[in-house]
Amino acid sequence: MNVSIIIVAAGSGSRAKLNKNKVLFEIDGQTVLEKTVRQFLHIENISEIIVTASTNDLQIFKDILLPLSDKITVCLGGATRTESVKNALEFAYGDIVLIHDGARPFVSKKLINSVIDCAIKFGSAIPTLEMCETLGFGDDLIERVERQNFYSIQTPQGFNTCEIKKAYSKITNETFTDDSGVYCKFIAPCHRVQGEKKNIKLTYPEDFEDNKIRIGTGFDLHRLVEGRKLILGGVEIPHYKGLLGHSDADVVTHAVMDAILSAAALRDIGYYFPDTDPQYEGISSILLLEKVMALVAEKGYKVSNLSITIMAEKPKLMKYVPELSTNLAKVIHISTENLGITCTTLEGLGIIGEEMAIATRAYVALQKIT
Ligand code: MG
Repeated sequence: MNVSIIIVAAGSGSRAKLNKNKVLFEIDGQTVLEKTVRQFLHIENISEIIVTASTNDLQIFKDILLPLSDKITVCLGGATRTESVKNALEFAYGDIVLIHDGARPFVSKKLINSVIDCAIKFGSAIPTLEMCETLGFGDDLIERVERQNFYSIQTPQGFNTCEIKKAYSKITNETFTDDSGVYCKFIAPCHRVQGEKKNIKLTYPEDFEDNKIRIGTGFDLHRLVEGRKLILGGVEIPHYKGLLGHSDADVVTHAVMDAILSAAALRDIGYYFPDTDPQYEGISSILLLEKVMALVAEKGYKVSNLSITIMAEKPKLMKYVPELSTNLAKVIHISTENLGITCTTLEGLGIIGEEMAIATRAYVALQKIT
């Protein structure tokens, strides 16, 4: 059993407002088109992948796709989706053909295989999702329709190749937004398979927004000396020694600031608040953290969650954790639910174990401010 794949990507993607075909937009350094095509590359029984392109994109598509596999052909599409599929079907010689939107890069191998299996069995396979929203009709929404009988229709749609070719040959001048419409009209009712929520068609500008989490790490260590206050996370902790430094030497807040700056690919605290600058002498590091939050917000990010490990032999810090957590969470604009603080001794070993220093490691996740 041979399976042909047609990937329709000859549109302009005008709804995405990206000034180029939306399938040429990059996600994680790879074009949407390449991501989509790659999902089909290692599926069993696939003998060819036919991709439709507009005249403008033809050479670009070839440059991106032809090196991936010798199974790939790029052909010219038409003015409409219907015409593009009709052109591409000329090249399809598999027993089964799957027709897929180029702008659905998140299709899973599981869905592709289930469409192939169902198309082999029944001649057609259309992935659908049940409607979860209430459906209204007309501008005033007065009319309601029972959502139980409605489905949203996805791709890839699978068909017996001869039948779908026959269906397309019967089209005169109508246009269809998908292939199940053509099959239903000229051949037979379609078979449904369960679609996938993740298999979205990238359509609108917000679909292309960067929603990646950015991870950052920060580390700091300060020497413990007599005659200094011990400030951790902006909280003064009773102890006979304190941390030495130009500012208040708040080792926890310093590690947190570096983690946040690093996650945003900004420079470190030594760059923004040099210890040669008298304005930072004895300053509360919490005030510096406020400045760091402003810098990161300017870059368009906010903290999603934060994880801190404080390494100190003495004093025992456990009972101060809630206060530290509340204090930092307020400045970072997160809930204490998203802030984890653990404390550890170093079993008497090394400079921390011998109470010569306290150190902190922090990890942070940033997300785009929407
Ligand atoms: Mg420091």
